[in-house]
Amino acid sequence: MSTLLESYAKVTGEDVIDHLLQLSKPLKNKKVIHVNSTKMGGGVAEILHQLVPLMEEIGIDTSWEVIEGNDDFYKCTKSFHNALQGDKVDISEALLKNYEKTNKENAERLKGVLADADIVFIHDPQPAPLFEYTANKLGKWVWRCHIDASKPYRKVWKYLRKFVAGYDASIFSLADFAQHLPHPQYLIPPSIDPLSDKNVDLEENEISSVANKFNLDRCRPIMLQVSRFDRFKDPIGVIKAYKLTKSFLPNVQLILAGGGADDDPEGEEVLNEVRAAAQSDPDIHILVLQPDEHRTINALQRIADIILQKSLKEGFGLTVTESLWKGKPVIGGDTGGIRLQVINHQTGFCVNTPEGAALRIRYLLHNKDKMNEMGLKAKEFVRENYLITRHLKEHLTLMVKLLYNNSSDRIEI
Ligand code: UDP
Repeated sequence: MSTLLESYAKVTGEDVIDHLLQLSKPLKNKKVIHVNSTKMGGGVAEILHQLVPLMEEIGIDTSWEVIEGNDDFYKCTKSFHNALQGDKVDISEALLKNYEKTNKENAERLKGVLADADIVFIHDPQPAPLFEYTANKLGKWVWRCHIDASKPYRKVWKYLRKFVAGYDASIFSLADFAQHLPHPQYLIPPSIDPLSDKNVDLEENEISSVANKFNLDRCRPIMLQVSRFDRFKDPIGVIKAYKLTKSFLPNVQLILAGGGADDDPEGEEVLNEVRAAAQSDPDIHILVLQPDEHRTINALQRIADIILQKSLKEGFGLTVTESLWKGKPVIGGDTGGIRLQVINHQTGFCVNTPEGAALRIRYLLHNKDKMNEMGLKAKEFVRENYLITRHLKEHLTLMVKLLYNNSSDRIEI
């Protein structure tokens, strides 16, 4: 076992790693490619930065490609994202044509690698048409949807569905998101990497230097939400919950930490709305971070007394997993992937309104023993369910199934 795998074994137990090595045997020398639309920002990039090297580590030839597009391409794909999460957005014919043209160009640029791969994982709607536009494909193609597609705007889903239907399989994070599609659908929730900069244990001096850098007073309670500036993350609802909390706890502080993603053109606009709602309150810290400031986010999640993820729609919510892993119960929006992770009174509380959030904040701050007990449960819950090793195991199982299901070849395990 390599030194890296030994480090994972220390967190998960050796049997978990042995199982991964067994499962990877029939996949040796297979070529796997992941394709998405950004290297920086958002949950998909976060996952691929960890998953791709770990697949390589266990001996699978894995690469990661990113499609390229102009501003209109990202405007269109952000509208897809909003529409799949339920917004009634009409997208112009010109934007759709540009989306198709961009995918054709990317298919041409990547044809050498895509056509020969044994398995291609296409993440989210941005690169979905690559399947149609790649000629002479040899391998299996899987569409991986990370979005809360429980109630998509039908018109937009109907358009996207025609690019997705031809795939060999699709993956959703939870059963609520599955769609009518003519191929098998698998449920695989995402994960965090306990060894990454975002999640690794930090020394106290690193944590306090982050608190000092942002003028956070650790003697007073601190609320935190980390997320892209996106309306579905409900940053304005978080500010409302903070203001309600302030009425019974005047010394509370709020951190809204976020940054952009290369494929999210709406961030600036939402950031301006957030700044306006904060009304220059000196106790609201709006931190615009660089996409690689993983250790800063790690430290903020350790500094915070209360962590929120008050999303209105959420595919999964890695920020929730990251916080639970740090032993913090999370107050999360009662939606999508947050419901998989936040179990009321056990790992946190699901809420529907700023008032509900404020009530739970008060409960936790007045019941510190309970908060600590929930935090311990939260960490073990993530260890059992949402670490990268479980995620990889499910990917390997799916890959073996796709490659060997109809084959008379003996699988060497
Ligand atoms: N994140 C980050 N910097 C930011 C905001 C978010 O590194 O300024 C990270 C966050 O820690 C998490 C991921 O980006 O790992 C966001 O994933 P999530 O599933 O919570 O939401 P998404 O952005 O994919 O909707």
